[in-house]
Amino acid sequence: MAGTRAPGYRRVLLKISGEGLMGAKPYGIDIAVVDRIAADVAAVRQAGVEVCVVIGGGNIFRGVSAAASGIERTTADYMGMLATVINALALQSALERHGVQTRVQSAIPMATVCEPYIRRRAVRHMEKGRAVIFAAGTGNPFFSTDTAAALRAAEMGCDVLMKATQVDGVYDADPHKNPKARRFDRLSYQEVLAMDLKVMDTSAIALARDNAVPIVVFSLHNPGAFSDAVAGRGVFTRVDGKG
Ligand code: UDP
Repeated sequence: MAGTRAPGYRRVLLKISGEGLMGAKPYGIDIAVVDRIAADVAAVRQAGVEVCVVIGGGNIFRGVSAAASGIERTTADYMGMLATVINALALQSALERHGVQTRVQSAIPMATVCEPYIRRRAVRHMEKGRAVIFAAGTGNPFFSTDTAAALRAAEMGCDVLMKATQVDGVYDADPHKNPKARRFDRLSYQEVLAMDLKVMDTSAIALARDNAVPIVVFSLHNPGAFSDAVAGRGVFTRVDGKG
């Protein structure tokens, strides 16, 4: 959507997948990429928008694949959730280098490393201008950090869930594999579910729909992409009630 009208968001949730932190690496964290994302988040904070972040862990550990190779599924999922804490700490450090006060709250309490997730406290941090990073997903196995993002966006009363991906929106096929893939400007939650579009998993879409949280899907590849998408500039797909 080549929008020019500023949406005027007051509070946004940014979902970054673990993959989004890898850069060109096959695994782990590319500090330069994390630093670029932090600069982008800092720009959004400076524009006066309250920001919270849900971060994935797929660059380090993914429960489903580990379960396939013999680790018991719930244990593998806890390992995946711990991976998100590692990413959260890396992003916190980068954000603070960019002058953004940041708190990490984990859904699995680990008092010596970060705060436990406390909804009211997270809201208060944002009101004071701090960015809050939510780690450890929902704290429950069999869920994903996409679902955690929809859950936290609803709990925090966010105006939008900004889902950063490798491509600039939602397509009807993988644009990296199919040059004829068509990008959507706008979709309803129902269309995403009915067409089985790979935006976020179905529980995340259903949760966003039930709580009327709009989702904006955009690419985090270029510097300034997050601030552009928050301001309604550039290319993205918006998923909402579309009524
Ligand atoms: N996970 C989980 N419960 C949650 C969130 C995450 O069990 O609420 C585990 C799950 O094993 C998942 C891993 O943590 O594979 C990493 O999260 P995710 O795959 O969502 O990360 P992303 O794809 O965003 O990098």
